[in-house]
Amino acid sequence: MYTSSAQEKNAIDIVDLRSDTVTRPSAAMRRAMSEAEVGDDVYGEDPTVNRLQERAAEMFGREAALFVPSGSMGNLIAIKVWTQPSNEVICEQRAHINQYELASMSAIAGCMPRTTPAPDGILTWDLIEPLIRPKTYYYSQTGLVSLENTHNMHGGTVYPPAVTEDVCQRAHSAGLRVHLDGARIFNAAVALGKTAADITRNCDSVMFCLSKGLGAPVGSMLVGSSEFIQSAHIARKLLGGGMRQVGVLAAAGLIALEESPKNLHRDHENAKFLADGLAKMKGISLDPTKVMTNIVIFDVRATGRSAADICSELGKRKILSGPTDKYSIRMVTHCDVNRAGIENALAAIAEVLSARAPAAAHS
Ligand SMILES: *Cc1c(COP(=O)(O)O)cnc(C)c1O
Repeated sequence: MYTSSAQEKNAIDIVDLRSDTVTRPSAAMRRAMSEAEVGDDVYGEDPTVNRLQERAAEMFGREAALFVPSGSMGNLIAIKVWTQPSNEVICEQRAHINQYELASMSAIAGCMPRTTPAPDGILTWDLIEPLIRPKTYYYSQTGLVSLENTHNMHGGTVYPPAVTEDVCQRAHSAGLRVHLDGARIFNAAVALGKTAADITRNCDSVMFCLSKGLGAPVGSMLVGSSEFIQSAHIARKLLGGGMRQVGVLAAAGLIALEESPKNLHRDHENAKFLADGLAKMKGISLDPTKVMTNIVIFDVRATGRSAADICSELGKRKILSGPTDKYSIRMVTHCDVNRAGIENALAAIAEVLSARAPAAAHS
């Protein structure tokens, strides 16, 4: 039997909505990890890693896949493979690759982000086309288009498949590659009732995370052509991401890949329930019809309180969340939060907002 650690038992009454990265490996994952067949993956000899990579490639209808330590490294590897130093990477202004990856595309790949804001974070060709540089030698050249599906900072929004397809086709006609930051691509697939393969078909490379809603402890995947994955393999080594008996992690990843997507609809239902509850509260503004997956971002400006203040008051009530700017808060549902947890969160938010001033919150 695999029992929770004392730390996990203490954490049980905490409702952690900061991110879906906080999920802990299931008992089945821990069992598979302890029993995993392993080998040296730098020699390509870890059978469990090989199985995970084959299965991911198969699920996405691609030739090959590569296990990488993190989503950030996966995105950076794709950028390195598709671009030359001095190129620009077209992405949405609030894209994860632009805001939360330490400017690694510049610091390491030698590229500049070329950004535009987009409604709901969805980049359409109309927004992308004007950002493409003319092929004049003194311009930095456009090296890559990167999309994010679901879009984290726009509240888990989902690309309509026709938009992805249109962007890919037109980018290809313009001689450009398209990378997909699909950290939460299975959330998008579940929301659309389609397969991950269906909604990513035309992208030249896809990164997705095993370690978020799918619940694996560590790891992300890159999928693409054999040629792309061969280059990605070299780039991973260059970044120090070659791992050895990493089948212990891949074993959990395999379970995440096979078992977790079918449960994501619960996280989406919980997010919707949370959004509907929040929308009824005075001072909170959000459009619950836009909540399609597991991320809820809401505005608290009209409460007269800052997001940081509200999050800190919620924290005292064991509800964890994070501000995304001065007046907005993000809450992310995942497999370690159930409906009762969401009900507790709603009750705590109502209580915090009904307090006259922050100092009086506990009176
Ligand atoms: C989490 C995330 C990543 C990568 O995350 P790591 O923490 O590096 O694994 C990339 N893109 C998006 C949109 C994300 O949410």
